[in-house]
Amino acid sequence: MIIKISNLSEGEHNFVFEDKIDVLDLDRPFYGKYKSSVILNKLHDQLILSVVSDFKVKYDCDRCGVQYRTSLKSDYKMIYLMNEVPVETESLNVSYLSRDADKINIKSDVREFALLSIPMKKLCKDECKGLCYKCGKDLNKEQCNCSTEEIDPRWKPLMNLKDKLNLN
Ligand SMILES: [Zn+2]
Ligand SMILES: [Zn+2]
Repeated sequence: MIIKISNLSEGEHNFVFEDKIDVLDLDRPFYGKYKSSVILNKLHDQLILSVVSDFKVKYDCDRCGVQYRTSLKSDYKMIYLMNEVPVETESLNVSYLSRDADKINIKSDVREFALLSIPMKKLCKDECKGLCYKCGKDLNKEQCNCSTEEIDPRWKPLMNLKDKLNLN
């Protein structure tokens, strides 16, 4: 994912990268192909990159365990500074380039931000009913006879909280 920056005129440039996910050294949950669209703005001694990538992913639902496929979008901005003394920075989004750099490789950034964009919580659908905690049946597919008791509405906020805390 190399962008040549020598002889690049001031202003906006567009690049698209499309390839197999292996190229980014990513495997599960990623699969298939990915696409990254780059808008590069050259301003004096700066390159400002805006990168939007689309990935295909397979997750296991946190509630019912079913494997499902979905897409994942990841975007980030990166500012490359030329002609600056490299200093330690806490920021993820600033890189330094030497004056004579003639190309940049965005592969490791695209990879890093792809990994960061994997959600903590993965649900096959928002309203996934999950598995019965007694008999283990998938309640999306069938209703079991374990309990017909409705959850006391007063407990609902607590259940939602439990759901949020269940990050795996
Ligand atoms: Zn589910
Ligand atoms: Zn049950």
